[in-house]
Amino acid sequence: MKKIISLVGARPNFIKIAPLHKIFKTFSKEITHKICHTGQHFDENMSKIFFDELDLPKPDFYLGIGGGTHTEQTARIMIEFEKVLLQENPDLIIVPGDVNSTLAGALTASKMGIKIAHVESGLRSFDRSMPEEINRTVTDILADYLFVSEKSGIDNLSREGINSKKVFFVGNIMIDSLVHYLPAINASLITKDLELLIKNYILVTFHRPNNVDNLKSLKDIVNLLNNISLEKKVVFPIHPRTKGNLEKFGLLKQFAKNVLLTDPLGYVDFLALAKDAELVITDSGGIQEETTFMGIQCITVRNNTERPVTVDIGTNHLIGTDLNHVKDTAFKILKGAKKKGSIPELWDGKTAFRVIEILIDKPITF
Ligand code: UDP
Repeated sequence: MKKIISLVGARPNFIKIAPLHKIFKTFSKEITHKICHTGQHFDENMSKIFFDELDLPKPDFYLGIGGGTHTEQTARIMIEFEKVLLQENPDLIIVPGDVNSTLAGALTASKMGIKIAHVESGLRSFDRSMPEEINRTVTDILADYLFVSEKSGIDNLSREGINSKKVFFVGNIMIDSLVHYLPAINASLITKDLELLIKNYILVTFHRPNNVDNLKSLKDIVNLLNNISLEKKVVFPIHPRTKGNLEKFGLLKQFAKNVLLTDPLGYVDFLALAKDAELVITDSGGIQEETTFMGIQCITVRNNTERPVTVDIGTNHLIGTDLNHVKDTAFKILKGAKKKGSIPELWDGKTAFRVIEILIDKPITF
């Protein structure tokens, strides 16, 4: 009997662990899978709703580490997670993605000689000013199993001198969740509830510190959305970090009437909105992938992406942070300059099977 603990902390982590948990349940005679939630995201609509919608059980361990600086958060997660590992003595931990919980989990387990699997390994923006880049790079150095979602990851890890025997190209686990919940996504009533016309609105998310932590760029974003909304309805589910800063800078009331502000949405409703949007504008990591899978035009307001396949063969337009350029590109897309994308290799809804096959070292029939 093997014992595995998955460490999750933030919204995208829950989406990446859910497909693995579903399969682990079917191997419950051979594997005990436990979930440890660090508490990095703790709001009802950033955490609990995902556990409910993605059929995840209540976490076996809850560390209650929310807030603080990156260092405080990472250090406090390490201290608390060490206690869990000492008590449980697992054979392996799984850390998904690139958040502080990912790094803290990998550091703690490696110091204790416990094996580490990193799901969504090898992605690189080559921009060390992003906390996520530090988290994913260090996690990859420490991991024993590196599960890669797109081929660029294999090249990145090879360039960094990581032994190719530890690297497995398994596809994109976020797409497993998307495929699994597609019937629920198709049945969502969110466009009706928000009185939106299908393919006639723009969905927006912003939460990266570079874009939302300073007055100038946040003010520019408000102006951009107000400008675009003269042409098309804009729907903006606001991340708690962004909302806090909009409030702090007195900008929350500056949005035009045609910009519909909402709280962060649950997984099913958010993807339903993305699926039926004419265009998505975002600085998210995962949303670049989900839009590519669904063939939805996406403008990424960043200077780089760690997910280049979404630009090379998908529907992602990597535009940079000059918001005039973003506005021009948005209008061009609305006028018809759409990218015809295709779905990247192994983004097929079966990534979790491939991961678990490798972990248990025997084939699973699917
Ligand atoms: N998401 C959601 N509700 C929202 C906004 C995003 O469910 O209001 C989902 C989205 O579909 C994606 C994930 O959250 O799967 C991405 O999370 P986020 O953008 O916060 O993180 P990143 O991917 O940038 O790390």
